[in-house]
Amino acid sequence: SPTVFWFRRDLRLSDNPALLAAVSAAGDDGVQPVFVLDPVPFRASGGPRTSHLARSLRALDESLGGHLVIRHGKPEEEIPRLVAEIGAEEVHIAADYGPYGAARDQRVEKALASHGATLHRTGSPYAIAPGRIRKPDDTPYRVFTPFSRAWREHGWRAPVAAPKNANWRKAKSGGLPDVPDLPDVDLPEAGEDAARKRFADFLDDGLAGYADERNRPDRDGTSRISVNLKYGELHPRTILAELAKRRGSGADTFRNEICWREFYADVVFHRPSSLWESLDQRVGSIHTDSGKSADAKFEAWAAGRTGFPIVDAGMRQLLEIGWMHNRVRMITASFLVKDLHLPWQRGAAHFLDHLVDGDYASNNHGWQWVAGTGTDAAPYIRVFNPVTQGKKFDPEGGYVRRWVPELADVSGAAVHEPWTLETQPEGYPEPIVDHAAERQETLRRFEAVRGA
Ligand code: FAD
Repeated sequence: SPTVFWFRRDLRLSDNPALLAAVSAAGDDGVQPVFVLDPVPFRASGGPRTSHLARSLRALDESLGGHLVIRHGKPEEEIPRLVAEIGAEEVHIAADYGPYGAARDQRVEKALASHGATLHRTGSPYAIAPGRIRKPDDTPYRVFTPFSRAWREHGWRAPVAAPKNANWRKAKSGGLPDVPDLPDVDLPEAGEDAARKRFADFLDDGLAGYADERNRPDRDGTSRISVNLKYGELHPRTILAELAKRRGSGADTFRNEICWREFYADVVFHRPSSLWESLDQRVGSIHTDSGKSADAKFEAWAAGRTGFPIVDAGMRQLLEIGWMHNRVRMITASFLVKDLHLPWQRGAAHFLDHLVDGDYASNNHGWQWVAGTGTDAAPYIRVFNPVTQGKKFDPEGGYVRRWVPELADVSGAAVHEPWTLETQPEGYPEPIVDHAAERQETLRRFEAVRGA
């Protein structure tokens, strides 16, 4: 009988073992590829992500020769309905380990059972499935470095090719999602081909210098493949196999960054509540501000109008292209938490609304890392100085000038301290806080909970 392949965070044909399993189980009866537009995650996704998803689905449909079926509704209703329509007995997926996805898949599995059909999980969006890397005593790792060592030692499978001569079926389709155009946001090209090309270009032009350049927001030194990993247009296994063919600090550093993504997914697998609750509850209980003045500060931060150039450049880059450089994600996040005394969850939610690569595990644990509530709980509290960070990582000021047009005429590193200029750049706000004073305030609040 035919099988169903249900696409989710794996919008590609190459290196997709679950798809191969569906093709092989179907034999001559064919595979029905389907994507279910589940209103719950879709509504929570923010414009850049829904736009990317819609374009990625279009590209996927093309590579399937127009056989992708889209169903709109709850997966636990839509998948069994499709199975009944075409007389399938098996539905194949790559496992989802996030809290929402895992619970949804269990509901689908149960609903399928009452139709006499089964759900088959092969692989996941990670090189090594969350939950698999454990300490010798079988408990999870809580800290990155030992996890990363065990992760590398464990190793991963080799990539597999796209299915050949698959027989795709075509049931009734509800059509691609209707998403608003975002004419003001300059988003990357979507789909598997674009992802593979972007990664190949990075291997040629970026990998050798990656270890030195990755912290420089003024250079184009990172891969920009986070969005492709997010939607599974490229699998980390494919990336790791290419890295294994190359030597040098670029490949090692890049492998380590891929490992951070796997580590955070592992942390969320073991502690699903840590998506929105501080892992270190003591640091998480630091007093935060609320009320009108706090809201005004949040709005200034979100709009990129804090008067701190590197912070404003990052926040405007986010609004304009749905992506922000990692170093600047850390600086802007630190500013919200340590200079404005606002809860990290508020910043994390804003990022998820605007990031095209918005991923709950990487984003929310990235925020926890900055807030000091996360996996690397330190005995001290880190407070980034936005001016020092700016001068160090954007030494000539090119990044700030690119994203903050009011400062485009200020030359050199002086762009990081516009308040020291003889004439104030027109239209650029004064600093909304005094960094030195807010740093003291953060240390005071930290001491208050540390002694508690
Ligand atoms: P590259 O430097 O080329 O790295 C390659 C890949 O490694 C990335 O695509 C990503 O998959 C992974 N990676 C790199 N750094 C990290 C990291 N610190 N944590 C987890 N994975 C990493 N990443 C997301 O994918 N989605 C998010 O929503 C997200 N939110 C973040 C929020 C904050 C506050 C911080 C500090 C970091 C966040 N990151 C997030 C991690 C990182 O900033 C992005 O993965 C990276 O900037 C994406 O650009 P790139 O693909 O060019 O990265």
